[in-house]
Amino acid sequence: MSFRPPLELALSAALRHLDSLNTTSVGATATLEALRTRLGMALADEGIAAEQVVAELLRDVEGGLIGSAGGRFFGWVIGGAVPSSLAADWLASTWDQNAGLYAAGPAAAVVEEVAGGWLKELLGLPAAASFAFVTGCQMAHTTCLAAARHAVLERRGWDVEQRGLFGAPSIRVVTSAERHGTIDRALRLLGMGRDCVVDIAADDQGRLQPAALEAALDDSPTIVLLQAGDLNIGAYDPFAELVPIAHRRGAWVHVDGAFGLWANASSRYRHLLAGVEAADSWATDGHKWLNVPYDSGYAFVADSVAHRAAMSYRASYLTHDEAARDQLDWTPEWSRRARGFATYAALRELGRRGVAELVERCCEHARAIVSGIGALPGAEVVWMPQINQGLVAFGDDARTDAVIAAILASGEAFFGGTTWRGRRSMRVSVCNWQTNGDDVRRAIAAAAKALL
Ligand SMILES: *Cc1c(COP(=O)(O)O)cnc(C)c1O
Repeated sequence: MSFRPPLELALSAALRHLDSLNTTSVGATATLEALRTRLGMALADEGIAAEQVVAELLRDVEGGLIGSAGGRFFGWVIGGAVPSSLAADWLASTWDQNAGLYAAGPAAAVVEEVAGGWLKELLGLPAAASFAFVTGCQMAHTTCLAAARHAVLERRGWDVEQRGLFGAPSIRVVTSAERHGTIDRALRLLGMGRDCVVDIAADDQGRLQPAALEAALDDSPTIVLLQAGDLNIGAYDPFAELVPIAHRRGAWVHVDGAFGLWANASSRYRHLLAGVEAADSWATDGHKWLNVPYDSGYAFVADSVAHRAAMSYRASYLTHDEAARDQLDWTPEWSRRARGFATYAALRELGRRGVAELVERCCEHARAIVSGIGALPGAEVVWMPQINQGLVAFGDDARTDAVIAAILASGEAFFGGTTWRGRRSMRVSVCNWQTNGDDVRRAIAAAAKALL
């Protein structure tokens, strides 16, 4: 058995895919039934040649891939991959390190250590904060909130790692009613259900107001959850005002900055994050705005002792290192992919200036798409982007959904829908390093055609 034939096939197919992103449909063209028929063969008793597996996979996924790696994808907040990060990701699979311990992958451990420091600098977070490279923002929330749970209960003399939540003082989680669903799931996984959440209404700009936060706080163990870039309009809570209020009441402040924390890389947008560095933990993604392949999220915790207490584990069969950084002390996973290589590569390829330009370019393209589509007859701007997120609508809810579907069917651009403040809107997210002026023009033209 040889690696060369399947890998050479994969390389040429990968390049063909990337080269064709500009000229093929950005939406899928195969039906669910077709994909099931093609891919759903019976599991054979005997295996086949590796290159045949790859060749048939390439054949069978035809039409079932979304063009989210390219510049015409504006659905959800999905980035692409800058070339070096894709290459580094391939190498992470090739090297197949188990990046749980320094002993199981020394270079992988050091790369994470280094890239973690770079990320803190770029995102404007305290140099002493601990961090974890996780699968995405969902697990970054889970990691940070486990540290938060540890800290707020420890202050009440309760050891949550030892005793669990059975009989523990209840924790209140005070947050915006317009938060991302990953917060609720993280709380669920940590044994803090929906009932512990106190929703506060955001203002018309999507921000929590100081007086509303003040009124929602009491002396219970409390986690305050703020947003740096909410999913619909990219709203930023006023951190400089809110964090001190929460801290005065002894609360832990966690920030969901899945994509919005990256605004810190640009001097043009950094003001949106003023005061965010005073929070206690932060969650963000690499696979969105930094444009590294899935899976890549980052958790940062100011109180590294709380972070480590929540995650670390010692077992006699593991080889822990005194001097090096064992990722297992900070991550929820045990065996894990050496996902730090892709981040390390992307940060080196882009540099500080490249990340800033990427952020600024995406914001400009988002504004151009929203204003261009919003100016079409029958269209309306619902939210002009402050960063890279905007909303447009096309008359009533049914018409808006129909126009979104028509644009998708054209294969020219991909947008998703959302219900924001009671109204169906088309969400415009620009997050891919490849999106350019031509993609913007094609998106607007596709909307114009769908509106005819
Ligand atoms: C995407 C997103 C998340 C979830 O991130 P995953 O990487 O998909 O887990 C959380 N919060 C916000 C604001 C997001 O945009």
